[in-house]
Amino acid sequence: MRSIVPSEGYCEASGIAVPQGERSVLVNGGAGFLGSHLCERLLQRGHKVICLDNFSTGRRANVDHLTSNTRFQIVEHDVRQPFDIQASLIFNFASPASPPDYQRDPVGTLLTNVLGAVNTLDCARKTGAIVVQSSTSEVYGDPNQSPQRESYCGNVNPIGPRGCYDEGKRSAETLFFDYHRTYGVDIKVGRIFNTYGPRMRPDDGRVVSNFIVQALRNADLTIYGDGEQTRSFCYVDDLVDGFLRFSAAGSACIGPINLGNPAEFTVRRLAEIIRDLTNSRSRIVHLPRGGDDPRQRRPDISRAAAELGWQPCIGLETGLTRTVGYFDGVLAGTQKAEVV
Ligand code: NAD
Ligand code: UDP
Repeated sequence: MRSIVPSEGYCEASGIAVPQGERSVLVNGGAGFLGSHLCERLLQRGHKVICLDNFSTGRRANVDHLTSNTRFQIVEHDVRQPFDIQASLIFNFASPASPPDYQRDPVGTLLTNVLGAVNTLDCARKTGAIVVQSSTSEVYGDPNQSPQRESYCGNVNPIGPRGCYDEGKRSAETLFFDYHRTYGVDIKVGRIFNTYGPRMRPDDGRVVSNFIVQALRNADLTIYGDGEQTRSFCYVDDLVDGFLRFSAAGSACIGPINLGNPAEFTVRRLAEIIRDLTNSRSRIVHLPRGGDDPRQRRPDISRAAAELGWQPCIGLETGLTRTVGYFDGVLAGTQKAEVV
């Protein structure tokens, strides 16, 4: 069992008072794309933040700009191993998320999601923390209804190349709800639909980062298959906003709740938009489609609207323009981390 000694002035259970209005928040996977934005926003709100990460798909560079903040702490740890950290709120974002990342080590991916959920829930059970799970639209698999509502049980191939991630996330949801029913753990499960923005790795293999980097280099834009498959793309700031609202909602609000932008685009249209935004000379080429690649994905967000008063407000072109600016800086070597 990994027991974390909190940094000075950090932990209420150590007897050190936490100033009023300040919460201690643990973010598993806090050095990743989404986790780093979450850490930043939590710090901006005055909370103390522990970023727990094994740096497998995340990067120290994502949180370097936060390390000068005395309310921020990094703990290098793998969620597959038990841990015991005092926090009143936990976000479990630790899992590879890009298909090439999670398919590189499928057994590790499945175990990260299952054991990571168990260890996170055990930690919450001991401390009484609220625990928020980053689940995914992948629990719907290749959906045969659209838009996807939370009541839809999905169409997942358990033995296909995406099964390690999809079934890992589905098992994690089961664990969250069973810990809630059995032990009364205060849970919240958010199902994230494709989210993009600054701090995605240029080489992470997801469609938005791939197309932007390819377009900025005037390289071929690689559409897998005919490009008629659809996704609904949410800008990172909107998504983090949804999770912050969810975490502050009452204990009866446990989800699952879809969090995503319902505006649906074909992958071909995304390629054209990115090529236009970047004034790129890239050609569009077609490569074989990955196994079990979902044909369609679009969230029904009426539950998030009703229970959280949330809806995304950043449209695709605005979000892509910001993201292109970020990657432009990364490729030019001039991207600087923001100071919080
Ligand atoms: P990411 O790969 O950038 O971040 C994941 C972070 O988790 C990384 O910092 C990584 O090092 C860390 N991590 C992975 N395995 C770990 C382990 N065993 N122990 C400790 N840390 C570990 O991906 P992301 O896009 O930021 O996704 C974050 C979370 O959101 C994931 O759980 C993912 O499944 C979920 N999600 C993301 C999206 C999306 O579109 N970005 C969609 C659905 C769900
Ligand atoms: N995709 C593509 N070209 C790429 C990367 C991805 O056409 O260079 C497609 C992929 O086949 C899928 C969609 O874009 O249909 C979204 O892929 P991503 O990996 O971003 O996310 P996910 O499949 O998990 O939704």
